[in-house]
Amino acid sequence: VPVGHVYFIGAGPGAPDLLTLRGRDILARADLVIYADSLVHPALCEFARPGAEIIGSSALTLEEIVHRTIAAAAAGRTVARLQSGDPAIYGAIHEQMVRLDAAGIPWTIVPGVSSAFAAAALLGVELTVPEVTQTVILSRVSGRASPVPPLEELRGLAAHQASLVLFLSVTHMSRVVAGLREGGYPEDTPVAVVYRATWEDEQVVWGTLQDIVAAVRAAKFIKQALILVGPALKDRQTLAGHRSRLYSPSHSHLFRQAGDMPQD
Ligand code: SAH
Repeated sequence: VPVGHVYFIGAGPGAPDLLTLRGRDILARADLVIYADSLVHPALCEFARPGAEIIGSSALTLEEIVHRTIAAAAAGRTVARLQSGDPAIYGAIHEQMVRLDAAGIPWTIVPGVSSAFAAAALLGVELTVPEVTQTVILSRVSGRASPVPPLEELRGLAAHQASLVLFLSVTHMSRVVAGLREGGYPEDTPVAVVYRATWEDEQVVWGTLQDIVAAVRAAKFIKQALILVGPALKDRQTLAGHRSRLYSPSHSHLFRQAGDMPQD
């Protein structure tokens, strides 16, 4: 039989209607669906065709997942790996792609809506407010089994005072806030912690460096939460003076000529 194909599909942050049309169409023709059952909404499995084999990955080791994926694809089947958010962010797909390469199995990544952007949408913020910050850093603090390279320690990242989105870190709030302080974010910098963005039970806790540790402790978030930090999260009135020059009357571009204003 001709060899099958493996698709790593970004399922989005939770709400089933945030799956892409491309992801849905591949899901509809997959023979085997392996989904991250802790973070991927079970309703997404309803897009699979009747008769497709569906497995939750939480009970399996990476070896078992890869073994079943390779066995199915080698037998000519189409495999859909449904991952939370976008597969490129903490999706643990690198190690799987290496093994699929070694086994001669072709694969494709289908992007998804990362929880980072679902959280920004829920907060109602632009992470790149003109003249406030033009950079978004996606990172995490180190965990028991997942060290972060020394050059990426939070203190160093915080020194940019850009917009910062931290995954997998909500159980380390004190360490997070210490790193933000050492990096130099002012004490009144807004911090938002978003729990299960786009799920039925989503929740947001707002604070600053001063009070966010206590607020998160009171809310009892211990997983499935993101920490967003930075001046772009200040309230809209405070930031109201900032606007993009792209849309300002003095800026010329290809489709619109400014009058006799200075151009750049
Ligand atoms: N690839 C995923 C991230 C996987 S790592 C993405 O792009 O979103 C798992 C971590 O992502 C969780 O510990 C949490 O920090 C974050 N996360 C995933 N879904 C989330 C959601 N709906 N709301 C808040 N955080 C979420």
